Amino acid sequence: MPRLQLFDSHCHLDCADFNEDREIILEEIRENLAGVINPGSDGASSRYAMELAHQYPFVWAAVGWHPEEIARCTEEDMTQVETWCTDPKVVAIGEIGLDYYNDENAPHDLQKKYFIWQLQIAKRTGLPVIIHDREAHGDMLAIIQKEAKGVTGVFHCYSGSLETAKEFAKLGWYFGFGGSTTFKNSKKAREVLAWVPEERLLFETDSPYMTPVPFRGKRNKPTFTELVVKNAAELRNTTVDELIKSSTKNVKKLFFRVK
Ligand SMILES: [Zn+2]
Repeated sequence: MPRLQLFDSHCHLDCADFNEDREIILEEIRENLAGVINPGSDGASSRYAMELAHQYPFVWAAVGWHPEEIARCTEEDMTQVETWCTDPKVVAIGEIGLDYYNDENAPHDLQKKYFIWQLQIAKRTGLPVIIHDREAHGDMLAIIQKEAKGVTGVFHCYSGSLETAKEFAKLGWYFGFGGSTTFKNSKKAREVLAWVPEERLLFETDSPYMTPVPFRGKRNKPTFTELVVKNAAELRNTTVDELIKSSTKNVKKLFFRVK
């Protein structure tokens, strides 16, 4: 039995940042958490996430192409993503979405093309999606309203406004919160975290990125999910136990292949 029945719903154990001590990190997860979900960002990382998921019973994979990688993505890659969805340890399509923050990313139209394509894969396979939305909130809302009927999923590391969050919540979507909600200057994310209905709440680390206080600046790791939950319990005026219980229930409901 792990120490906590808590999930890290979003981490990247495939990242090179874990090359030196991945085994140790995985052992820490086994001892302390109920499980983790590792989304891919392209073909190679999705395949690696699946390998880890098959090697470790407490790891689950998501497969897909991240908006920052779309410049390299082809239509054959989409076919491969869809084929991978039959694997029982693949629990979602992700991470997918739009990223307008960095000018070096693929043109917006190309990002939208592959984002919508992956939403359609979700529709056909019945799997949920894990969404990355950076500085693209307007287009994101429009696409979700128009192209994602019958699809559900989570906005990981949600960074939009409370107003937009209310629109997504009405459509049945979930919200993932991580290290950024422990930063005192993340007013918007903290405001949304305080508001989100408990049955739509997920926790994550986005390891190795987004390290929570008090380890900000160091490499992040899945067991730090506990710090995110402690902070959330304070913000929401509830207990850590209550949030662990409800968020784990949400993970199993949304990612229905997680056992
Ligand atoms: Zn991520």
